[in-house]
Amino acid sequence: MRGNHPTLGPSLALKEWYNLSMAFLDRVRSSLPRSLSVKISPPNPLSKRTTLRCGGHAPLLELESPEEAGQALEALRAHQIPFYILGRGSNLIVADGELDLLFLTVRNQGAPRVDPEGRVVFSADQALPGALAWCHANGWLGLEWAAGIPGTMGGAVRMNAGTRGGEIKDNRPIARVLSAGEDRWKAGAELGLAYRHSALSAGDLVWECALALKKAEGGAVEEARREVASYLKKRNDTQPLDQPSFGSTFANPSGDSAGRLIEAAGLKGRTRGGAMVSPKHANFVVNTGSATARDVVDLIREVREAVERAHGIVLRTEVCFAGFQKDPLA
Ligand SMILES: Cc1cc2nc3c(=O)[nH]c(=O)nc-3n(C[C@H](O)[C@H](O)[C@H](O)COP(=O)(O)OP(=O)(O)OC[C@H]3O[C@@H](n4cnc5c(N)ncnc54)[C@H](O)[C@@H]3O)c2cc1C
Repeated sequence: MRGNHPTLGPSLALKEWYNLSMAFLDRVRSSLPRSLSVKISPPNPLSKRTTLRCGGHAPLLELESPEEAGQALEALRAHQIPFYILGRGSNLIVADGELDLLFLTVRNQGAPRVDPEGRVVFSADQALPGALAWCHANGWLGLEWAAGIPGTMGGAVRMNAGTRGGEIKDNRPIARVLSAGEDRWKAGAELGLAYRHSALSAGDLVWECALALKKAEGGAVEEARREVASYLKKRNDTQPLDQPSFGSTFANPSGDSAGRLIEAAGLKGRTRGGAMVSPKHANFVVNTGSATARDVVDLIREVREAVERAHGIVLRTEVCFAGFQKDPLA
């Protein structure tokens, strides 16, 4: 049985991919402390861990404590094992094929808590919709901007997730960040939050983050719930939420909107294989059912080039890429 491999070419037998991937898995296992290596899942489909629902296979290590995470990061650095930090996979395109890349994910599952300074501390794997629901159930306000964003707190800090209503930077986050040999709380300039950007590097793992929220008074929670319902309705009316996607493809250029530029270039509905520029929202690329990561990347490149030709503006991608050998859009 033969098929295309993204980096090794068309003639490689599927069995050989499997062997290659097993060789990588063995390398990962032998580099990690024994207690951790038993927790690695063998190559599993990343299509089940990304909201775009496509991408290849790779091993995954779920980290259950900061001590484990610290040990893993140290060992991976020492043995030069390539890894990628995965949250909910809601802003991510993972390359096709068998990937020699270890995905690391936080599996802390700690409930939100209030620290002695009155900040609310969320685990990095806490999903934003659940965080918002917890806030309202416990009388905290300030996270309403996050309504409808499906990612985790870790991904939100890394991306400075936000909407027109606000962004995580407004909550003055302090994040516990682990990297090889370091476990430290970072804030302000060290996090470097800006429009869909942070100063965290690819090897920095957010373990948890503390946000400055407000205690609600009177009927403020009810009012906030109405605000959230209206944000969600607006999303439903304007975004293709019934199809797999990763949210916005491009960041908005200063003073304009990427969606407007793409639509004005006549690209709504444009397809490449199973990937399509959503007819409902031009800045969304959706998987119509059979998209490969290659289809999605080719379509994004085509859109970026067409927008540059039409408007003279080079759009910056907001979505992240994992497992590609080089800049996939080059
Ligand atoms: C329908 C839909 C609507 C969306 N709307 C919005 C929106 O309005 N605004 C917005 O900002 N985004 C939006 N998004 C995109 C996405 O939900 C956010 O960017 C979110 O913050 C990504 O979080 P994640 O956990 O899914 O991260 P992932 O997609 O898994 O990863 C994204 C980046 O964060 C890094 N990362 C993830 N977890 C950690 C961690 N614990 N430590 C360090 N780095 C980490 C990854 O390495 C990667 O670089 C939308 C997505 C969808 C599918």
